Formats: sequence, C-alpha cells, structure tokens
Amino acid sequence: MNSVLHRNLRHSLPTASKGEGVYLKDSEGKLYIDASGGAGVSSLGHRSAVVNNAIWQQLNQLECAHTSFFTNSPCESLASRLVERAPTDFGQGRVIFINSGSEAMEVALKLARQFHVERGELTRTHFISRRQSYHGNTLGALAVSGNLRRRQIYQPMLMPTSQIAPCYAYRHQHSNESEVAYAQRCALDLETEINHLGAENVAAFIAEPVSGATLGCATAPQTYFAEIRRICDRYGVLMIADEVMCGMGRTGHWFAMSGEVDIEDSSSATNPVCPDIITLAKGLGAGYQPIAATMASEKVVSVIEKGSGQLANGHTYMSHAVACAAALAVVDEITQRDLLHEVNVMGRYIQALLAATFAEHPYVGDIRGRGLFWGIELVKDKVTKVPFAAELQIAPMIKQVAMQNGLICYPAQGCVDGIAGDHILLAPPFIINTEQINEVVDKLQISLKACLVNKN
Ligand code: PLP
Repeated sequence: MNSVLHRNLRHSLPTASKGEGVYLKDSEGKLYIDASGGAGVSSLGHRSAVVNNAIWQQLNQLECAHTSFFTNSPCESLASRLVERAPTDFGQGRVIFINSGSEAMEVALKLARQFHVERGELTRTHFISRRQSYHGNTLGALAVSGNLRRRQIYQPMLMPTSQIAPCYAYRHQHSNESEVAYAQRCALDLETEINHLGAENVAAFIAEPVSGATLGCATAPQTYFAEIRRICDRYGVLMIADEVMCGMGRTGHWFAMSGEVDIEDSSSATNPVCPDIITLAKGLGAGYQPIAATMASEKVVSVIEKGSGQLANGHTYMSHAVACAAALAVVDEITQRDLLHEVNVMGRYIQALLAATFAEHPYVGDIRGRGLFWGIELVKDKVTKVPFAAELQIAPMIKQVAMQNGLICYPAQGCVDGIAGDHILLAPPFIINTEQINEVVDKLQISLKACLVNKN
C-alpha cells in the first residue's frame, strides 16, 4: 500500500536505494546517471564520505539547540565562510539559516519589509519580480513568482505583486539590438514599474541571476544587473538575488551574482554587482541536509542593529547544528578540492559538447547557461521559434524516457508572454568527469530522438 501522497497520484515511482558519486541506483538495481542533481541540489554527488562523517561527528556532539537560547559552532563557522565569499560590498553582513528555498525567500521578503519599517518607510510593502520566475511554493514566495502555472490555483490567496520582463534574449532580444541595449531595455522595465507604483511603495526587486527551473538557465545580458543595482539605489528599493538554485558554485562562482560585472566600471571585475539580500538553498546542503540561508548585507543588518535590534521573524529549526555542519563540510570540500575550477573546466566541456551534438538538431532552439548549469530549449520550428503545443508535454515526456535510459535530467515548462516553452535542465555534480559528461549527452541524444520523431 502506498501511503505517501506523491506529487503524481497516478504513476508509481522507482525506489531510490543507493547513491554513489554521480550515480543513483534503484531497488531493482537499475543505475541512473544524475545529470541534474535532482533539481540542482547534489553538487558533491551522492554519498560523500567527508560530508557524512561531518554529520556523524556533529550528531555525536549536539543535534540542535534552540536559537533563542544558544548559538552553535557550525552555524557560526558556516555564516563566516559565506560572508567571506560574498561580493565585497556585502560587507559585514549576516546570515539566517532555515530549511528550504521557499523559507529563505519568505525570510528575505520579511527582512526587506523590516528594513524599511526600521527606517520609518512604512508604505514600502510592494515587491517586484519578473515574469515566468519561480521563487518558491509557500504563499509569500509564490506571490513573487511570475510562473502562471504554479500560481494558478492559489491566485486568489496571493498578495499583490508586479512582474517585469525577464532576461530572455532567445525570444526577446531584437535581431539588430546589441546586448548592452537589450540589457538597458530590460532594466528600464524595472524603473518604469517603480515609477508606476510610486517608489515610496516599493520594498524590493527580486531576480535569479541565472533563471533555473522555469526559464531553462537563461542568463542576463552583460550590464543588466549593474543597471538594476543603479535603479534600485536610485529609488531606495532593495535588491534580492534568489540564488537558491544557481548559487553555491553552480555557475563557477560561489555566488552567481559574482559573475555579473559592469563593463562600464573598470573596477567591477574585482567588485561585482552586490545584492542587498541573497538566498541560498539547494547546493548549500548539497542534499545531505535540508538547509537554506538568507544573507543580509551590512547595509540591511546595520539598520536593524541600530534600530530595534531584533529580528522580527523566527523559526524553530533555525541554525540547526547538524544541517549547518553538513553545509560547512560542503563549503570546505568545494574549497579544498578546488571544485569551482572543476565547474569552470567541466562547464566549458559540456558547453562545447552540447553545441556539437545539438546545435543543428531540428528541435533544439537554444542552448544556454553558465558553469555546470545548462538549459536546452526545445521548439517545434527552429526558424520561427514556435514552441511545441503545451498538451504534448514534451519536457515531462523527455524526463520519463531519459529515466528509462538511465539518465536523470530536469524538465522545465514555462510560458512567457503567452509563449509556452519546453526546457531540459542539466546541473550535474561538480565531481563529474568528461567520460560521464559524454554518457549524459549520449543518453540525452537518444532520449530526444525517441521523443521527438516526427513531432511537427
Ligand atoms: N527559488 C528558486 C530559484 C528555486 O528554483 C526554488 C526551487 O526550485 C525555490 C526558490 C524554492 O526552494 P524549495 O523547493 O527548497 O522550497
């Protein structure tokens, strides 16, 4: 009897029974290469002895002590490691540890609100995000998510928010438009919306530096985030970077925003765009523990410190000692093994292989991404970019067939400005090697072929 209420009540799932590096095994002994780390989670692969050992050692000391009574050593060390790695302007920021990406976003929204309240700007309650974004499933995080499919049945329960244009060069950049001009046009959408709402009503702008689950790894054009930063500063609006999926080394930088530089500012290579608040989750615990973080920059912390001196929001499992010990081991393992270098090297390898294999594929419209975070957008017609009909459920079908072929890849279905889209996401562990990348791309090619024969 099946007592778990699964995501899909009609289909039964294989039972995952063991992990080993980039592979997962089910209870029937079938082996899968995990090319998406579930949904961008497993950056160290499965069954890391180092992380398992750190968890075990922490359990032998202390599992949890409530944060209204105590702090603990792993959470303090982890917070320092993250702040040290943040963009310079983050300053002496601080970190709140919670349990999931959605919770990290809820904390970010509340923190932004508290920042404005402490400054006496009580009317700043409105959040602006981007169309087709996904920032989590709890009601606040969903309210700032532009993904219509995920919002649909909860719509009447969601607080009002605004969505501006996403960065989606494949569909939105004009053929005669430079990257910088496109960046400027996208960023100006934010300024227009702030003016429309009245800056005195706007609390924060939220964006993923690289849009994962709903826009197939769409990156921002050069200078976009630098311009966004300037606009936020001009109007006193906080900038929140949702790095739940793209952070923690996934793009080849500890923070995805660290890859965003301002080409108009010569110092920006060493001083990249810095958000006021950053959220992290998936790769933070790398699957070993459910843990997420909301990072508040010095600018935000100092206002609260000088004001009420109290964080207005708390959760029972904040700073959980075992979860923090696991994440600390993840950070140290990435550092000691220089895995960010591997992400960049293997990232270039997968980029080249995807281009060589799929650039001429009749149904592959676009291949985009950064580091070990790649999306493939599938279209019915490569020339007109017309997508497949949503009813065909192309991305979920590819996920299913890929699993039969022993490949885990993540399907993303989006709809921007009425245009539906099927994307396949690859986010393999940072320990993947070239042979394993070849295996991923071979299996993906076979799966696309099986699903897309005569589809137009
Ligand atoms: N933000 C982004 C960008 C995500 O991709 C996700 C999950 O996919 C979330 C937030 C929510 O994270 P969680 O599923 O851990 O609540």
